[in-house]
Amino acid sequence: MTSWQKLLKNSIDSPWELVAQLGGNICDLEQVVNTYPLRINPYYLNLIKKAGTPLYKQAVPDIRELYDKEGLIDPLAEENLSPVPNLVHKYPDRALFLICSECAMYCRFCTRKRKVGTREMVITDKTIEAGFDYLQATPRIREVLLSGGDPFLLSDHKLEGILKRIREIPSIEIIRIGTRVPCTLPMRVTDELAAMLKKYHPLYINTHFNHPAEITPEATCACGRLADAGIPLGCQTVLLKGVNDDAEVMRQLMRKLLTIRVKPYYLFQADLTRGTSHFRTCIDTGLEIMRQLIGHVSGMAVPTFALDAPGGGGKIPLTPEYITHYGETLEFITYKGLPCSYTD
Ligand SMILES: *Cc1c(COP(=O)(O)O)cnc(C)c1O
Ligand code: SF4
Repeated sequence: MTSWQKLLKNSIDSPWELVAQLGGNICDLEQVVNTYPLRINPYYLNLIKKAGTPLYKQAVPDIRELYDKEGLIDPLAEENLSPVPNLVHKYPDRALFLICSECAMYCRFCTRKRKVGTREMVITDKTIEAGFDYLQATPRIREVLLSGGDPFLLSDHKLEGILKRIREIPSIEIIRIGTRVPCTLPMRVTDELAAMLKKYHPLYINTHFNHPAEITPEATCACGRLADAGIPLGCQTVLLKGVNDDAEVMRQLMRKLLTIRVKPYYLFQADLTRGTSHFRTCIDTGLEIMRQLIGHVSGMAVPTFALDAPGGGGKIPLTPEYITHYGETLEFITYKGLPCSYTD
């Protein structure tokens, strides 16, 4: 067993272990864990102990997960958009291929909490094979997004087998991997993994950091290894109440991401997922945070604020309004809030 696999094996996955480490109400925890899985690995546990609330909330089950009756089980209608299990074909030219049901930590706000880390998510060699067949038979798909769960929880060997098969399909130009491992278990990103990935370019990785305290020396090293393998890195942050719904926290996060060679890609409005309503902020909060990013930090550090349309309509960009009057003369306000105009 490699050292990251040992760490993962020592994860907290039961209420009593969690109470022993961080306290909490065992009855509440047991109820939540009966429905939604718990996993906090020793690396992230240590970070929670150091950084407190914003990390605690992302990882520790909350009884409110069970009180949310309005949220949708499958907010993005992924199951309806799956021609074969675990392959979501929503946009014409790209497909989301779920290849691993596990993660290094189970995020409480996960959009796929209906199945990630549970017996509901069945991924076998057979389902993966059905995915290859669909990709092969659907040449309008130019890009495959490997996700899950977390593809980096697969062994190097298993992941390489999948990458190899995808590269044999001539219509696939781009491979993109979505992984939270650089944030939640950065020691998984070994030199061997980076050397393996490098053989399958053009390959992009989007990772997922939500708070500046997650940007540690270990995370820096993991992202550096991937970047040194020539892999462009993006970040998909989720806007979460009590975690990062604050302009200064968000500015720090976005700036720090650039320093570890990760380009902020999306900032997501929280989906309408059942069991996550206590994390949701209103749209205006996100727009106001964007207003305090745009112009105030490097344009490189500004993500696109977006919501994923319920029912599978795709991602909708949300931008603060700068224009105050349309006409022959366009009137607007600057990032500093000063009125200005441009005559056509
Ligand atoms: C988000 C998503 C994509 C990728 O969208 P981009 O805007 O290209 O990042 C592709 N397929 C599905 C099903 C998605 O949810
Ligand atoms: S890493 Fe991603 S897929 Fe896994 S629990 Fe977190 S949000 Fe969900």
